[in-house]
Amino acid sequence: IEETLVLVKPDGVARNLTGRILARIEAKGYQIVDLRMVQADRALLAQHYAEHEGKPFYEPLVEFMESGPVVAARVAGHRVIEGFRSLAGTTDPTTAAPGTIRGDLGRDWGLKVQQNLVHGSDSPESAARELALWFD
Ligand code: ATP
Repeated sequence: IEETLVLVKPDGVARNLTGRILARIEAKGYQIVDLRMVQADRALLAQHYAEHEGKPFYEPLVEFMESGPVVAARVAGHRVIEGFRSLAGTTDPTTAAPGTIRGDLGRDWGLKVQQNLVHGSDSPESAARELALWFD
């Protein structure tokens, strides 16, 4: 069965949306098979976001992600990688489709980084890599 890494980002935790976000994952029929709250450090985030190093939003992104605890979930289900990204909606929460997590619960706060509530792995390769980082 396929697995993905979902993160409830610091904005989601701070806004007390963790339960609603996890409930939407469960309601879709996916299974939460492991769950932890983590204060991520720079070393972990540098590895997690290695592909974005050097991009203009990289530093604000890492600062945002270390600004408070995140909730990491190992989520399992048939085609869950694609399915969770569909459930999350597109990156920009202002234009993410209504019905999605970002479209329903997120908006643009005019900051240097998109505070868009959740992360989901984008391929089987990144899921394996990211799950090893956050859970092993
Ligand atoms: P997507 O569904 O677009 O792949 P993602 O969350 O996986 O969304 P990434 O492209 O992996 O997005 O970028 C990681 C994070 O960096 C985003 O979730 C967002 O918080 C932030 N980000 C990405 N692109 C920008 C941007 N152009 N400006 C500001 N922040 C950004």
